[in-house]
Amino acid sequence: MTTSTNRVAIVTGASRGIGAALARRLASDGLSVVVNYAGSADAAARLVDEIEKAGGRAISCQADVSDPLAVKRLFDSAEAAYGGVDVLVNNAGIMKLGPLAQFDDASFDQSIAINLKGTFNGLREAAKRLRDGGRIVNFSTSVVGLYQPTYGVYAATKAAVEALTHILAKELGSRGITVNAVAPGPVATELFLEGKDQAVLDRIRQMNPLGRLGEVDDIARVVSVLVGPDSGWINGQIIRANGGVI
Ligand code: NAP
Repeated sequence: MTTSTNRVAIVTGASRGIGAALARRLASDGLSVVVNYAGSADAAARLVDEIEKAGGRAISCQADVSDPLAVKRLFDSAEAAYGGVDVLVNNAGIMKLGPLAQFDDASFDQSIAINLKGTFNGLREAAKRLRDGGRIVNFSTSVVGLYQPTYGVYAATKAAVEALTHILAKELGSRGITVNAVAPGPVATELFLEGKDQAVLDRIRQMNPLGRLGEVDDIARVVSVLVGPDSGWINGQIIRANGGVI
């Protein structure tokens, strides 16, 4: 594997939330980072600026991960800027909730398009273009395991991501590329907080052995380890990073 200082990481969905923390952390670990976003161009540009001011290297790149051609262009941009790609973090995702009886087709299709097809688009490109010794980190959720009502479609897309993780690890092992997934529990981001009142949040905090919600840096630290030089023997695993809630 190349050293951290000349390794290149694409982080999808890095304009906000967990992805932004991942981009900051990988840049401070010494990787050159491609900050992907869908619509939040200003937030992505501000993050790149912040990383550069802290002495890191980053570019931003718009690409809707559900579009295979856009994901190809995302890899093209990374290669044009930095000469190759070593790490893909497939973080971009959405969470549409609702009982199955009322779940609408548009929300179902969008969940599949971004969470499952978006992850697949990144994995297919990474399988062809990552340098040997690379790292892939997918994003699942601890809802795969907790299986709460209303999370059915979201959990189904993430269970599919876990299946892809196990199988791609076997397909890419001969090139020294590891493929793992992180499955966070509740993390205080827009995706999780939207639509939840204080009473619901208090109940979720109390469910956790550590008595709090996850913070984005809790997850960034785990991804830093999976991407870093000491984790080469961790492969094909789903790491539930959730404070022990399941
Ligand atoms: P978030 O705060 O809503 O941020 C989502 C990010 O994904 C944004 O940067 C957004 O970009 C990007 N994105 C959305 N659709 C995209 C698309 N089609 N193409 C490219 N980028 C897209 O979400 P988060 O909480 O950080 O979640 C990140 C990941 O962790 C997701 O996969 C989620 O399922 C997983 N996760 C989160 C939690 C949690 O409690 N927060 C728990 C378990 C798992 P724009 O800003 O440009 O829209």
